[in-house]
Formats: sequence, structure tokens, C-alpha cells
Amino acid sequence: MALRPIVKYGTPVLHAPSHAVPSIDDGIRKLVQDMIETMHAAPGIGLAAPQIDVPLRVIVVDLSVGEDKGQLITLVNPEFVEREGEQRHDEGCLSVPGYGGSPVRPARVTVKGLDLDGKERVYTATELLARAFCHEIDHIDGLLFVDRLSPLKRDLLKRKLKKRAKNGDWEE
Ligand SMILES: [Zn+2]
Repeated sequence: MALRPIVKYGTPVLHAPSHAVPSIDDGIRKLVQDMIETMHAAPGIGLAAPQIDVPLRVIVVDLSVGEDKGQLITLVNPEFVEREGEQRHDEGCLSVPGYGGSPVRPARVTVKGLDLDGKERVYTATELLARAFCHEIDHIDGLLFVDRLSPLKRDLLKRKLKKRAKNGDWEE
């Protein structure tokens, strides 16, 4: 296992859709182990492969941040089965350190994807877990929470972030 650097806003891999994983092999299992370690060390409750500069559709979510193995979720090629309602809460992102925003998210989602054994997993989630799934699936679609803010807030924040990205002076 290894910690991987988390890429920041402005890095191309964060702003383009990632590729589907063709098969779950040792490379993918190693990638997931590194993602879990990197997420826990950050610390964060979710991480998507493009955040460590790997353009593949893989996400990990752990609301317990390593405290409870039962809460660790790995999904390969995740997709939404259902989305309903609306909720809105503050969100941050390890790739946008020092900034936050409150995008509108579905109140309830059902997502499906493969686990590391290639078995299909289906999760229905509300509240924070629903937001975490949406945030991470956005990442593999090349979207950040910033892209989902109201136009005024989005443009203001993007101007600040572009400056940060140019100077590379992120608050860690
Ligand atoms: Zn994020």
C-alpha cells in the first residue's frame, strides 16, 4: 500500500470523464488499497481514482474514516439506479482544499457497481452517504462540487480557484 498525492483543481484528470474499468485485476485491487489509505490519511470520507491522477471509474467511501471496517464501500464502475428528492449541505473536497460550497444533491439515491470480487453491489443511501456517493460519482464524470453551485457563486469561486491553481499555493 502507498499514499498517493491528491491532485488539485485545475489538473486535467479532474475535469474530464474517467474510463470504465474493463476487468478487476491485481492492478485495480492495488489501486483501491492505495485509494483507501490515501483517503484515511487525508482524512476524508470519500475518494475517486481521478483524485490520485488515475482516470478510472473507481470510488471509495467511508463515513467512519477508518474507524469501522463495515462502513468502507468500494465501487468499481458505479452508476445511479435511482435519484429522488433534494438536499443541500456544505461540502468540501480534498482536491479543492480550503474551499466549500452547498450544491443541491438528491435526498435519496440508489447506486450500483462492482466490488473487488466482481460482484454487483447495490446501496440505497440518504443524508451524508447519499451526498458522498453523488460527490464521488461526479468526480468520475469530471465534475466537482464547484460545478454544481449557482452561476454567481460558481463563477466567483472558479476565479479564485484558477488563481490558486496557477500559483499552486493550496492550503493543506
Ligand atoms: Zn471531492
